[in-house]
Amino acid sequence: MNIVLFGAPGAGKGTQSALLVEKCEMFHISTGDLFREAIKNESALGVKAKSFMDQGKLVPDDVVVGMVEEVFEKVGDKDFILDGFPRTAAQAEALESMLSRHSKKIDRAVFLSVPSDLLLKRLTGRRLCKECGAVYHIQTKKPQKEGVCDLCQSSSLYQREDDREEVISTRLQAYENSTAPLVKYYKDKGQYVEIDGVGPSEEVFAQVKSVLVE
Ligand code: AMP
Repeated sequence: MNIVLFGAPGAGKGTQSALLVEKCEMFHISTGDLFREAIKNESALGVKAKSFMDQGKLVPDDVVVGMVEEVFEKVGDKDFILDGFPRTAAQAEALESMLSRHSKKIDRAVFLSVPSDLLLKRLTGRRLCKECGAVYHIQTKKPQKEGVCDLCQSSSLYQREDDREEVISTRLQAYENSTAPLVKYYKDKGQYVEIDGVGPSEEVFAQVKSVLVE
């Protein structure tokens, strides 16, 4: 089954995608991760995306769609997860034509529902490992040794530039204005499934997985 995984920033898309990759061997396309990688490599794409991302704004549709088109070539026969794409109506339309060119389809658009006060707590407290990308939280998922990654032992936990409180409100606004309307879009297509994204990630994952076998 091919899925779109969507929801507000902090809803847990990255966490659920990582579990899907680990347990179901799906092909993961995360536009946020791809942009962060491009920024790290200082590529032309990274330069284009950085200022938008740092301000919490959406990267322009043509840039995002061009990037996804390139990655889509590598999906092959695997089932895939689109994580954080589409985020606008124009991207959703572009996805449709991309899918039909590749004779593929989306089976479910899985929406992770999380109330906004919890989104804020998750985002402001989130810390990442610069080396391996592991995700921590200053209250709910502390590393065993402060500032040190449990997985790769590096002491490079950091806060994403766009997880600072002053940027988060812009991200949430962009979500409300541009992405939330996709709920109706996917409902109309009969692909929409809503999942309660509150609670331990394994419990949320059990629900996500049940959608894949329906
Ligand atoms: P994420 O890691 O999904 O929270 O994305 C981080 C940032 O990358 C977003 O705040 C946007 O600036 C940018 N971004 C990721 N995906 C998209 C997309 N589909 N459309 C526009 N901007 C995106």
